[in-house]
Amino acid sequence: MILSLQGLNITPPFFQNSSIIFHQLYADCPDVLSSSSFNLRIILFENIIVFEVDTSMAKHTKVMRYRIIKPKEDSWDVFGKVLRELQRETRTALNKTIQLCWEWQGFSAEYKEQHGVAPKKKDVLGYTNLQGYAYNRIKDEFNTIGSGNLAQTVKRAADKWNSDVKEILRGDRSIPSFKKDVPIDVVASNVRSIRKEGKDYYLRLSLISKECAKEMGRKDGIFEVLIDVRDKTQRVILDRLIEKEYKLGASQILYHKRKWFINLNYQFEKQEEPLDPNRIMGIDMGIVHPLYIAISDSPARYHIEGGEIERFRRQVERRRKQLLKQGKYCGDGRRGHGRQTRIQPIEVLSEKIANFRKTTNHKYARHVIDLALRHKCGTIQLEDLKGIAKDDAFLKNWTYHDLQEKITYKANEAGIQVIKVQPKYTSQRCSECGHISSENRPSQSEFRCRVCGYEALADYNAARNLATKDIEQIIENSTAKK
Ligand SMILES: [Zn+2]
Repeated sequence: MILSLQGLNITPPFFQNSSIIFHQLYADCPDVLSSSSFNLRIILFENIIVFEVDTSMAKHTKVMRYRIIKPKEDSWDVFGKVLRELQRETRTALNKTIQLCWEWQGFSAEYKEQHGVAPKKKDVLGYTNLQGYAYNRIKDEFNTIGSGNLAQTVKRAADKWNSDVKEILRGDRSIPSFKKDVPIDVVASNVRSIRKEGKDYYLRLSLISKECAKEMGRKDGIFEVLIDVRDKTQRVILDRLIEKEYKLGASQILYHKRKWFINLNYQFEKQEEPLDPNRIMGIDMGIVHPLYIAISDSPARYHIEGGEIERFRRQVERRRKQLLKQGKYCGDGRRGHGRQTRIQPIEVLSEKIANFRKTTNHKYARHVIDLALRHKCGTIQLEDLKGIAKDDAFLKNWTYHDLQEKITYKANEAGIQVIKVQPKYTSQRCSECGHISSENRPSQSEFRCRVCGYEALADYNAARNLATKDIEQIIENSTAKK
């Protein structure tokens, strides 16, 4: 189950107060949340919650508003008149489209009552959708507005109708009615060009029909306008649009507080980059967090909140002890079934735990590979479990071996190389300055560097070391010097 969170809308019953999550995440990875945009996902694995802060996947469609300073070749007198007329026609087109939709709704309902089936738009109107029908019906009634922009205006009204119609019929919403301050549509192809002249930016906008242009004694319906560029952000957007790095969407001209503005709608197209073998995902395995993940050149970090397997194991263990206890009394006459009969359920329980671990490991491994692909990591570095010290016997547990095997298998399938790293000093080394000392670990969960003062969760520090290129060689060199 995946919850996508945009803004702060987090659905109960998971959390009463979404700001708690944000505070926690901010404390965990402030650099990520300070960046301009990110996706936040909460993934629920059985009873484990995984937080994901992700800056790579965001799809961007944004709007930037620019004030129109003045038309380049026309006077405000002429241009202002054109805009007001366009606004009047736009409003009429919107309301007429809604009217036609409403009429169709009435006809359709009546027809259904008489014939028992709904009529097909194609048969009656000659169009499969209301938008095409409405455009064709009203297009000749407008003199000023150009055809491309008119089609967009009609589409806007038809989209509004389609999204509201159910509520309108239920009586929960009134029929849309557009007021006189409606924005004027300008489709992307009618923003003919964005031009830079010194520090000034000009837009060439195709706004009126050929007929109207002719009547006005103009050679075409294009108006060039100087726009106000307030700051660097506004400038960068225009530069990227000029360089075709951004794609322009449908824009709108609007009147606000006695001034005219244009809302430019722009989109970033995300490119598929190949996996980068030098971008390394380091995975630390531990008790508190079965997996803690860092990525070499990114502040992104992920972890899986532990306890799932452990809780399940303890639960099963309790049951097993109960059964064994009962087994003690076998043969004393009270039960009379003999020890043999009890062995079977115990074996069943062991199998249950093993199966549970296997499926959990599959989920973890799949999750790890998804993350690696998303971050274009061409390399994953894991601890070489053969090198684990005796006191960390729990890591020798087959569960971790199994998890590593699954990660390795899925990584190879995805074209990601897996490198095993001698883990002897990865938990003692400062991932910030490289200082290695057992004193860097004031407790099992904390890391505090004695030299540079770097502080982090011990698991995260270890993951960062594991996400370092040639870390084994680096550690070998620095320990040899001593
Ligand atoms: Zn340090």
